[in-house]
Amino acid sequence: MKAVRRFTVRAGLPAPLAALATLATNLRWTWHPPTQDLFAVIDPQLWEQVGANPLRLLAEVPAGRMEELAADQEFLSSTQALHDDLRAYLTGPRWYQQRAEELEGGLPESIAYFSMEFGVHEALPNYSGGLGVLAGDHLKAASDQGVPLIGVGLLYRSGYFRQSLSLDGWQVEHYPVLDPRGLPLEPLVDRTGAPILVHVSMPGGRVLRARIWLANVGRVPLLLLDSDIPENGGEDSDLRGVTDRLYGGDQNHRIRQEILAGIGGVRAVRTFCELTGHPQPVVFHTNEGHAGFLGLERLRELVAGEGLDFEEALSAVRAGTVFTTHTPVPAGIDRFPVDLVQHYFGDGMLLPSIEPSRVLALGAEDNPGMFNMAHMGLRLAQRANGVSQLHGAVSRRMFGGLWSGFDVEEVPITSVTNGVHGPTWAARETSAQLGDVITSEIDDEKLASVSDLQLWRLRSVLRATLVDEVRSRLRAAWLQRGASALELGWTDSVFDPEVLTVGFARRVPTYKRLTLMLRDPDRLRQLLLHPTRPVQLVVAGKSHPADDGGKALIQQIVRFADEADVRHRIVFLPDYDMSMARYLYWGCDVWLNNPMRPLEACGTSGMKSALNGGLNLSIRDGWWDEFYDGSNGWAIPTADGVADPIRRDDLEAAALYELLGNQVAPLFYDRGEDGVPSRWMAMVRHTLATLGPRVQASRMVREYVEAAYAPAALSVGSATADGYQAAKDLAAYRSRLSGHWTHVRVVDCELALGDGTPVIGDRVAVHATVDLAGLDDSDVAVQAVVGRVDDTDELRDVTTVVMHPNGDGRYAAELALPYVGALGVTARILPRHDLLASPAELGKVVLA
Ligand SMILES: *Cc1c(COP(=O)(O)O)cnc(C)c1O
Repeated sequence: MKAVRRFTVRAGLPAPLAALATLATNLRWTWHPPTQDLFAVIDPQLWEQVGANPLRLLAEVPAGRMEELAADQEFLSSTQALHDDLRAYLTGPRWYQQRAEELEGGLPESIAYFSMEFGVHEALPNYSGGLGVLAGDHLKAASDQGVPLIGVGLLYRSGYFRQSLSLDGWQVEHYPVLDPRGLPLEPLVDRTGAPILVHVSMPGGRVLRARIWLANVGRVPLLLLDSDIPENGGEDSDLRGVTDRLYGGDQNHRIRQEILAGIGGVRAVRTFCELTGHPQPVVFHTNEGHAGFLGLERLRELVAGEGLDFEEALSAVRAGTVFTTHTPVPAGIDRFPVDLVQHYFGDGMLLPSIEPSRVLALGAEDNPGMFNMAHMGLRLAQRANGVSQLHGAVSRRMFGGLWSGFDVEEVPITSVTNGVHGPTWAARETSAQLGDVITSEIDDEKLASVSDLQLWRLRSVLRATLVDEVRSRLRAAWLQRGASALELGWTDSVFDPEVLTVGFARRVPTYKRLTLMLRDPDRLRQLLLHPTRPVQLVVAGKSHPADDGGKALIQQIVRFADEADVRHRIVFLPDYDMSMARYLYWGCDVWLNNPMRPLEACGTSGMKSALNGGLNLSIRDGWWDEFYDGSNGWAIPTADGVADPIRRDDLEAAALYELLGNQVAPLFYDRGEDGVPSRWMAMVRHTLATLGPRVQASRMVREYVEAAYAPAALSVGSATADGYQAAKDLAAYRSRLSGHWTHVRVVDCELALGDGTPVIGDRVAVHATVDLAGLDDSDVAVQAVVGRVDDTDELRDVTTVVMHPNGDGRYAAELALPYVGALGVTARILPRHDLLASPAELGKVVLA
């Protein structure tokens, strides 16, 4: 018999224990071990059974036990102390409050952070992989730092899929249905207790409705929209499915999700703030293009509510928007057929007062038939960034076409390197030995006081814990694949707590090259079965359900790992998620990553491993390109110039085997009398000390505050003051520019060189004559540009100097000659306005 409806009943708590409900629903427990311990004490066995989930524990613990605890003074006082501690955490001043006092312009009172997925914890399975986990870490670190963020996204009734394997190693997907009432969520209700609904218009006069669920991530409210509600009934019941799954379904399904997240999301934030008195966000952060429709709704608000025209509203919206791009893979960019966008926006119902042609123009790209969400994200945001230095550079190249006429280095896309939430990803044992990781920095002094032997014991404990986890998961996986318990005795002895343990876990798009390690199976086999220096390898990862290519790669690994001679040294564990991932990050000695450079935007799993003393063995891509220092792990050499991908894989795989067999393993097995590999431990120590502080999400969040949120809030302040005067000015300026710009030109540019050959550092005068075609000197910046030249007179390594007007279109500047050798000089004209964050912003430049 199947249930036709599921529901969850929460236990009533005896009055003295009411504080437990608060402790269980605020997700701060997920990174606060003392709170977890309090729940574990209630019923240690049940705690294990419910996967260490406080809400499930409270739902299932026998009433008698709760009565008993309600009379237990010691338990009551622990509960009270933790409740007080939570209150202090939620209300006290933290880094942000202090920083706001130091900074002249202060800091914004409220910032909205939109993302299509949030991976806070497996107790709220609302993510697929790296992007979602990063968003979860962003919220948690913001909470710790006191940054007043509001998270906004969707609640997926089936989350992402759960993965299992068929007998022959093929990925099988399941979509278990979640009941929000069993999750750490509360519905947003009005004063009468009725759920608050968000409405967005759908074509044909229909309306999509969604409820708003609130999760508390420490200090940060997270709003999740849910369309699976009776209010989408009758003829519209198909709309209930809009938030059914993450990344499942076709383009039509996806655009509906993104419309709900972006447009519905802004409406949800507005309502939430009105209802709770929370300040309305000043800055909006669009985490990847999917959430980009949020900018359109804010345009609508300003046009409909403030009487601005479209261009004026655009100036104001851009001032307060931050866009983060996460993929350098063109196929990873979210794009929709223009017809589909037209279908949703064309009748003007979804965004009354915004011309549909304006919407289409924001997403325009080279292909006139496609609407590009990343392009829209960039056009709606004054500040944009990639997620590592290398990815910033790749993004400037990839999106450079939107700023044609500018050098790649001038494209206004910066970078903020991702980080991971230390208190979430450091094992308890690690934090206990190495200092309070919750303060977000590994404590140097404490590290120095820990001996190699102690550190080695810590690594060994974490490895042994992983080995236990591998055994039980492998056994469960085989039972699922159809084996009988009787044939599974061997799973009790797979893996060895003494053997060098290498981890490889990630989603399996082609560029991550899951099967690179299988390039030469005999070579891999030799490494695994080495008589004195064996390696054991744990592999995990999900393939997108529609990607049969990815599933075939998984199958190759599974088939290899199934072979009787190696199955004790290599395992594929199905259903990679946060609950499994932490054991891998804790216990692996080496974290392997071999993407096709430069297609990994950042990568964060290696950071989580480093936090626990794991050493990275990785292609120099994403974060590792900037953080690898020669002694904190290994860089797999890349065959960058080799165009043939097969040959490239061969070369890079050979380099990987070579490193693993000849450097990594010998170092790990080089033991002193006390059994400790001291040279290995030196690398572990160096990794903890140097990477520990830099891989933290708290560092990332502080960078976003300083480089994006604070300046954006100042721009918003200027743009909106005096009835949006500056936004109106900027819009008027832009339209004046577009009338004149095509006629603006540099007439000539001269360098006043004396007799003889100049010497580096000499100051020389540059003169230019320009025709501003009716614009004023104050409307433009004229710059002298000097740099090296090659045979084609193409300028490289340029520096620019502001030129000053001398009337009649004549400009002059003095510059110091920066290099020896062949140099060239030119002049260029750029727009200038106080509200522009970068001279390249408008994508306009006139060259000599
Ligand atoms: C950290 C994490 C990821 C992202 O790892 P990458 O290195 O970016 O591939 C994916 N899934 C889970 C469960 C994670 O915890």
